[in-house]
Amino acid sequence: MRQAIGTLGLTLVVAAVIQAAVPARAVAFEAQTESELLNSTLWTQSSVEFKGNSLAIYKLAGLMLDQALADKTWTAAPDEQASGFEGKPPAVILDVDETVLDNSAYQAWLVKTGKSFSSKTWGPFVRAEISGPVPGSLQFIEDAVGKGVKVFYVTNRKAPLEDATRNNLKALGYPIDDSEDTVLMRGEIEAWKSSKKGVRRAHIAQNYRIAMLIGDNFGDFVDGYKGSPAERQAIMTKHLDMWGTRWFVIANPMYGSWESAHFGHDWKLPSEQRRQMKHDAMETWAGP
Ligand SMILES: [Mg+2]
Repeated sequence: MRQAIGTLGLTLVVAAVIQAAVPARAVAFEAQTESELLNSTLWTQSSVEFKGNSLAIYKLAGLMLDQALADKTWTAAPDEQASGFEGKPPAVILDVDETVLDNSAYQAWLVKTGKSFSSKTWGPFVRAEISGPVPGSLQFIEDAVGKGVKVFYVTNRKAPLEDATRNNLKALGYPIDDSEDTVLMRGEIEAWKSSKKGVRRAHIAQNYRIAMLIGDNFGDFVDGYKGSPAERQAIMTKHLDMWGTRWFVIANPMYGSWESAHFGHDWKLPSEQRRQMKHDAMETWAGP
């Protein structure tokens, strides 16, 4: 999907193949030769609209925090924290990528080089420690710490990238509580191998009341994020009251499970097929 098609010739061949297979729906697909990441990366990296959106979400989270702290029956993790949490100290869990750290420079590199995401290039990017702050996140976290809230960073960056991640966060001024492990990487221990973060939320829930979850991906809130679009919608609807009160989502149009849901989260499918499935997923006006 993110791999730009190399030559016009190949584009035409691919388009012709698809046109032969599915003639009724090939037109816009054929016209799409620009990287799918261009607009979303440009928007995230440089628009005042993204900044305003992110600032507003974090401001709302800050406003809701007092209510979250005052109400001891309040938890943001219904799946991991069913009961017995009222007396525990409050914690906030934040995702890292595109929630606290802005990695749009990596996405821009993908656009400019025509490459797709790969751990072989992602690792060196992370180790460069050049990610910027997502607008509003630092202020929110500082305020939360000031109110006695324990801040956890729960990320699917893998364990070998922990030092670089901590360095990048610290260089930007993000507080990291070193009295215990508050930066929970994927695979840091055997039980945390999964990209599903529920196990790590449950780990935190043992000793804390989880007051808020903040992320850019549905998986930062629930483990059912790898379902179909309809299944994801059903889980979202079930938790409707959480959004804007206990769950806060930062816009990420560059990547995420919202995209892969349209092709069964199967990144092994050929890129043309994944793009076609996304294309087919759109509800379309019949035209004038
Ligand atoms: Mg993220």
